[in-house]
Amino acid sequence: MRADPRGERQRALSRRLEEAGLDALLVSHPPNVRYLTGFSGSTSMLLALRDEMVLVVDPRYAVQAPAETTGAARVEIAPRSLWEGLGLTVSAIRPETLGFEADHATVREAERIAKLGAARTRGTDGLVEGLRVSKDEGEVDAIRRAASLAHDALLAILPSIAPGQTELAVASRLEAALRDRGSEWHPFQTIVASGPRSALPHARAADRVIERGDLLLIDFGATLDGYCSDLTRTFVVGRAPDDRQRAAYDAVRAAQQAAISGIRAGMTGRKADALARGSLESAGFGAAFRHSLGHGLGLEVHEDPRLAPTAEGLLPAGAVVTIEPGVYFEGWGGVRLEDDVFLPNEGPTLVSPGAPALEEVP
Ligand code: ZN
Ligand code: ZN
Repeated sequence: MRADPRGERQRALSRRLEEAGLDALLVSHPPNVRYLTGFSGSTSMLLALRDEMVLVVDPRYAVQAPAETTGAARVEIAPRSLWEGLGLTVSAIRPETLGFEADHATVREAERIAKLGAARTRGTDGLVEGLRVSKDEGEVDAIRRAASLAHDALLAILPSIAPGQTELAVASRLEAALRDRGSEWHPFQTIVASGPRSALPHARAADRVIERGDLLLIDFGATLDGYCSDLTRTFVVGRAPDDRQRAAYDAVRAAQQAAISGIRAGMTGRKADALARGSLESAGFGAAFRHSLGHGLGLEVHEDPRLAPTAEGLLPAGAVVTIEPGVYFEGWGGVRLEDDVFLPNEGPTLVSPGAPALEEVP
């Protein structure tokens, strides 16, 4: 059995609080609360002190919160409202400088936080997210299992996809297959885009009827133990691909493989993006790749780091990122392939099964 990772995460946060000159941090973003304490509820306030975690929840979570956070946080049940309970907790502790997560607080919430009873409050940026970027073994394993589950669900429904079905009907069968296999929830709205709609990088499933010879782009994922996978596959429905479809697919797959084999922890997100972009450019598809290469993946489906032409930040060791090049032609269609990759200190490791060659698509 793996050691409970929460103690080490809390000690790392404590060091960050000290560096930032904070006595306490009010953590309100649910994935951050889950990361530090294990509490998976959607509403809570975590007061992270340098030597203790106090989780304030409302009575709905009176059973769940203590059960999930045993050994990792002291739970306070707010009798009436979360803010009232938080006020009581903060005024009992009286921190001098209380930080809060500015990215996740509304203006109204920032005003309320200022009145909680700390001498000073200060907005902070990414203190917990900065820790979450580097995954431990258990987190990588959860993402790997979520990717394998998603892949199995797609393989199970692939033989049933046929011309005449709507995108929504395909999405519905895929989502059922994901749930049947244990996915806790869909990490994002499943994309099933057919024919010319596959040229819209963020199309949702719609009522369009899939035709023979259509490109069919499916972007989907699973969630296990809170961790997300994110995969995209593109197929041709009901007949062999034509030359243009094959050329686009082969170029995207070559770009994806160039990025997967060349990406390293310690390079910039810009350089990683350029691995795929350069490959597509030399195949004559540069102008058709109209989005960034990928994003970090973990408790949230979009987190740091970014892989994009404008991403000057270094990819941290331990990050899990998506590699998702695509080419899109308005009125014709698009091809995107997406896989998930772990970046340890040495060499990248695929955590999803990898996109098949077009002739190997079942
Ligand atoms: Zn995706
Ligand atoms: Zn993605």
